[in-house]
Amino acid sequence: MLGPVLLAAARSEQIRKLVSAAPVTRPVVDRFVAGEQLDDALETIRSLDARGMEVTLDYLGEDITDPAEATRNRDAYLYLAEALKGEGLGVRAEMSVKLSAFGQALPGGHDLALANITPVVEAAAEANTTVTLDMEDHTTVDSTLAILDTLRERFPQTGAVVQSYLFRTEDDCHRLAGAGSRVRLVKGAYKEPATVAFQDKKEVDRAYVRCLKILMAGDGYPMVGSHDPRMVAITQDLARRFGRKQDEYEFQMLFGIREQEQERLVSEGHRVRTYIPYGTDWYGYFMRRLAERPANLAFFLRSLASR
Ligand code: FAD
Repeated sequence: MLGPVLLAAARSEQIRKLVSAAPVTRPVVDRFVAGEQLDDALETIRSLDARGMEVTLDYLGEDITDPAEATRNRDAYLYLAEALKGEGLGVRAEMSVKLSAFGQALPGGHDLALANITPVVEAAAEANTTVTLDMEDHTTVDSTLAILDTLRERFPQTGAVVQSYLFRTEDDCHRLAGAGSRVRLVKGAYKEPATVAFQDKKEVDRAYVRCLKILMAGDGYPMVGSHDPRMVAITQDLARRFGRKQDEYEFQMLFGIREQEQERLVSEGHRVRTYIPYGTDWYGYFMRRLAERPANLAFFLRSLASR
C-alpha cells in the first residue's frame, strides 16, 4: 500500500526538500548510494572489481527542468568516461544513463537528449566500454527506444532496459532479442497506471518470466536485473535449456542490496554487475528503493524516531 505513496512522493519537490534536509537521512542514503564524488564511486569500483564483480555507474540525476543541467550531467558522464578509461577495466565497468537527466522531458527533448547522449556513447567507446539507457516512466519508452536504435547504428553494443510491468514489453523483447543487443530486464520501479502496466506483483513476476524466456532464447546478451531468488534460479534453468554459457548472460543487482547473493553468484562463476549510483541528486533513486521494500522504510523511520 505504501509503495505508490512513496513513488508519488519521489516526484514531489516539497517532500524532496523535507527528506533531504532531515539530518538522519544521510546514513540511510549511504546504504544505497556509493558517495557524492566520482572518487567515492572509483573506490567502490576497485573494491568490487577485486571481489570479481563488474559494475555499471550511474551519475545520479533525473527529471531536470533546465537545459543547463542537461549539459552539466552530460559533462559529468564525459568526466566519468575519462576516469573509466584510466581504470582500464573495459566493459567490466560500463555506464547507465537516465535520458531525463539529459533533457528528454524538455521541449524538443528527444533531439536534445540524443544530442547530449551521443558524445557520452562516443567517449564510452573510446574507453572500450559502453552505455546502457535506463528506462524511466512509460511516457518515455518510445523516445528512449528510438534513441537506442539511432545509437546502435554506430555503437551496436549500447544497452537498453525493459520493464516487465508494462504490457508492451513482451513485444519489445521480441524486437530487441536479436544478435548483438544488450538488454537489461527489470520488473519496473515507477508508479504506472493500470492502462499500461500490470498492478499485481504476481502478474509482474509472471511477465518477467515470459520476457526472460524470450531474451534467453534469443541471440542477444540478456542482463538479468533482479534481486529475486526465483528469477535467478529460473535464469539458470533457462541458460541450461537454451545452451547459454555463463559468459553469455549476466546478473545485475543494485549497490547495497543482497550483497551476499552477488558474491555467491560470482563464486559460482557467474557474471554479476553491480549498479553503482553516486552524486548529490539521490532523492528520486532513494525513494524508489524505499518504495520497493517496506523494511527499508521501517529502517528509515526507526532512525528518525531514535533522534
Ligand atoms: P522484488 O520482487 O521487488 O524483490 C525481490 C527481493 O529482492 C526482495 O524480497 C528483497 O529481498 C530484495 N529487494 C528488492 N528490492 C529491494 C530494495 N530496494 N531493498 C532491499 N532489498 C530489496 N527499474 C526501472 O524502472 N528502470 C531501470 O532502468 C532500472 N534499472 C535497474 C538496474 C538494476 C541493475 C536493477 C537490479 C534494478 C533496476 N531497476 C530499474 C529496478 C527494478 O525495476 C525493481 O524495482 C527492483 O529491482 C526490485 O525488483 P526485484 O526484481 O529485485 O524483485
